[in-house]
Amino acid sequence: MSAIKKNVLEVENLVAGYGRIEALHGVSLTLAQGELVALVGANGAGKTTLLRTISGLLPCKSGQVKLLDGDITNSSPDYRVQQGLAQVLEGRQVFGPLSIQDNLRLGAYANREGTDERLQQMYELFPVLHEKKHLAAGTLSGGQQQMLAIARALMSKPRVLLLDEPSMGLAPLLVREVFRVIQRLKDQGIPILLVEQNARAALAIADRGYVLETGKITLSGKAADLTNDERVRSAYLGL
Ligand code: ATP
Repeated sequence: MSAIKKNVLEVENLVAGYGRIEALHGVSLTLAQGELVALVGANGAGKTTLLRTISGLLPCKSGQVKLLDGDITNSSPDYRVQQGLAQVLEGRQVFGPLSIQDNLRLGAYANREGTDERLQQMYELFPVLHEKKHLAAGTLSGGQQQMLAIARALMSKPRVLLLDEPSMGLAPLLVREVFRVIQRLKDQGIPILLVEQNARAALAIADRGYVLETGKITLSGKAADLTNDERVRSAYLGL
């Protein structure tokens, strides 16, 4: 009998948006210990808005966000990072003029304990970052910058990781590399909420998935079941 896994993230009835524009109309989802959950949806569905509201970069109008049993609905983004939440923003926001090593050290600002050990782990996971550690981050290719953005988030020793479109704008070979890295993080037991337009690749490595359409969850379930769902196949998998 498999043990029931505890939720590390619970979003309940979340309503959020920009000024008077409501982009999320009561979204609920959960992420359990060790799970990889994919959130798929078309352009403008509200995926980024949901991640930004979970990480506190956008305030919510109503609803609740719980991280590891603590209510963080109205907490500052910094507090959420300290509590173990890390987000890799859309568009790989690395600090171009700073060295790769300094970018990584910045990722540990909320949790400096064991920074050097953590750096070594990142260099093992991403050898290319080790080779180039003294170079400016801006000199890296798009795929390498995505690896750096993920590694920087991991420097805070997250207990929950939010990834926003990590494969966006990358050549197919690099897309595969990014998904391999995500699979390895999952194998290490890090719970991940993955937002992707590449629904096929995301559902292939996810345990469960949610479909977000114009600010509402319209479908959810095991990733394999979603992949076989006619609506998902025609709308998101191009089948
Ligand atoms: P994409 O894949 O294109 O990033 P998404 O699913 O992440 O799409 P969001 O970026 O969350 O979608 O956008 C959800 C809705 O909120 C859209 O209607 C969008 O136009 C609107 N929106 C997003 N950012 C802003 C903003 N800064 N100000 C006003 N409206 C915004």
